[in-house]
Amino acid sequence: MNENLKKPLMLIVDDVEINRVILAQFFKDEYEICEASNGEEALLFVEEHPVSVVLLDLVMPIMDGYEFLARMKRDDRFRDIPVIATTARSENDSEVRVMELGAADFITKPYTPAVVRERVRNVMARLENEWRKLEQSAQSQEIVDMRRRIELDALTNLYDRDNFCRKAAAFMQTDAAKKYVIVYLDLNYFKVVNDLFNVETGNLLLRSSAAYLQNVASGVGIAGRLEADHFAMCMPANTLNIDVIIQGLDNVVQSLNIPQNIRFYAGIYPVSNVFLAVAQMCDRAHTALATAKGRYTQRYAWYDDKMREDEIEEHLILRDMAGALAEGQFSINIQPIFNIDTGEDFSGEVLVRWYHPLKEFIPPARFIPIFEKNGFVARVDRFVWEEACKMLAYEKETFGRVIPVSVNLSRLNFYDENLVEYILDLIKQHGLEPWMLRLEITESAYTDNMHLLIDTVARFRKEGFKILMDDFGSGYSSLNMLRNMPVDILKLDMRFLEDIQNDPRARAIVKNVVNLVRDIDMDLIIEGVETKEQLDFLKSIGCKNMQGFLFAHPMPKADYLDRFVHKPEPVKA
Ligand code: C2E
Ligand code: CA
Ligand code: CA
Repeated sequence: MNENLKKPLMLIVDDVEINRVILAQFFKDEYEICEASNGEEALLFVEEHPVSVVLLDLVMPIMDGYEFLARMKRDDRFRDIPVIATTARSENDSEVRVMELGAADFITKPYTPAVVRERVRNVMARLENEWRKLEQSAQSQEIVDMRRRIELDALTNLYDRDNFCRKAAAFMQTDAAKKYVIVYLDLNYFKVVNDLFNVETGNLLLRSSAAYLQNVASGVGIAGRLEADHFAMCMPANTLNIDVIIQGLDNVVQSLNIPQNIRFYAGIYPVSNVFLAVAQMCDRAHTALATAKGRYTQRYAWYDDKMREDEIEEHLILRDMAGALAEGQFSINIQPIFNIDTGEDFSGEVLVRWYHPLKEFIPPARFIPIFEKNGFVARVDRFVWEEACKMLAYEKETFGRVIPVSVNLSRLNFYDENLVEYILDLIKQHGLEPWMLRLEITESAYTDNMHLLIDTVARFRKEGFKILMDDFGSGYSSLNMLRNMPVDILKLDMRFLEDIQNDPRARAIVKNVVNLVRDIDMDLIIEGVETKEQLDFLKSIGCKNMQGFLFAHPMPKADYLDRFVHKPEPVKA
């Protein structure tokens, strides 16, 4: 058999021949390559050939990439073929547009071979994964699923998730020019209903709510139950009256004598493209819902531009993180920590920085939570520790002395049972001692898994590491926790400082925390000191160790090391 026939088929669509040639070079070993020079040719081609993946230029004559993509996604036969758009950096907003149209990813020109290959590989791997999951669940879960599906329908008489998505898609696509919304509805504390009352009451609540929603949608739209207490509706935008729906559901809850703090919240996604997967539209409505939930007065929220940008940025972050680490886009900054009596810094905090070639600076508050969700934070942390160690080793060698710095440990690190050995090894490799590398652990990590943490922290301290409890006061069990949790230094959460100017109670709290810490013989660092007024107050209650923009911003390694030359011997703290 011809070896080529076994390779999957890749279609490269671009009106510029040289672009096609370059891309073909990247993939000729893995794929059989075919080319088209505009959208129309490409459509004809996919009609006739089993294409596995399409690389798509956006700006082309005759039929451009957007149009081609929209048509692919509109057609059941081609919808699942992954399309990766190739955009020029200057084409503003094109990324947003192609993602909305259902592209699997986008690549920016000019091409970097490694990046392009990795993108395609990732997309294909993701797809494979999804297929495998689908297959597995189809096989092993078939019976369970079927039963559940029947039960679901029997319970509420609404479409289940699959059917809702299918019906809603068909509904919107029959009149694609109209404006539609997807509404996601969810009860807060539904579990409580089941626990507090009984399953029957829970079921009754679901059934009555479903009947109400069915009634609202009847004749104008589609209602479904996605799972448990999660409902969705697909409605023409001009028929939606969300206040009425919320009120109606409140009435249902009240009529069953269920406490009033158990109630429905809604997220609304205004559909921009009816050919997008409905499951994704539901996800977006759910994102909006999450911003409303938990607030008392606001019962619903719309999916807005900010959320869309966040979603695209999150996609970008997930897509680019591994490559970014390999390509050296991460670096460290150091923010000195001062003793206000001496006016000198006695330590510093090492903070990660990501300079993304497209987005430029992405703040850690944006990417660290995403990395925490998918575990990548452990790799970034290790990178940061290593960079910190390199810097300390440089200090030792060049200046003959070391000012200790602290690094952040994310909670995920504690699930690695070799954590202590790993860090010990790291400092030994760099000729350092444990006191030089301080470890910051955020307060909320302690509440996560108390025993594991107590144990690990004790081992670190036994080796001679200083442990800092970060963001102290931001969590729940702060004060009591101090009894069982031996740490060396507390870093007071920045939010405490926000109000001290205007709020006497905020001042009283800070003052008492400072006294408490002193009484139990721990050290304290005040973080986020920005103003002279804050400094004066903190001085007046006896604080000495401070970190904040008033003294110094986080700075690149070179600037931080520069300060060494002019420094007197550090006072130990
Ligand atoms: P954090 O550990 O509480 O770090 C202190 C943050 O406060 C830093 O933000 C710092 O730039 C900022 N800051 C310092 N002084 C002031 C001030 O006077 N006013 C205000 N408003 N902010 C000030 P950054 O670098 O953006 O980091 C944010 C968070 O991201 C960190 O909070 C930490 O939780 C996380 N992070 C940063 N680097 C790493 C890392 O290497 N590993 C892990 N796991 N997390 C990191
Ligand atoms: Ca920190
Ligand atoms: Ca902090």
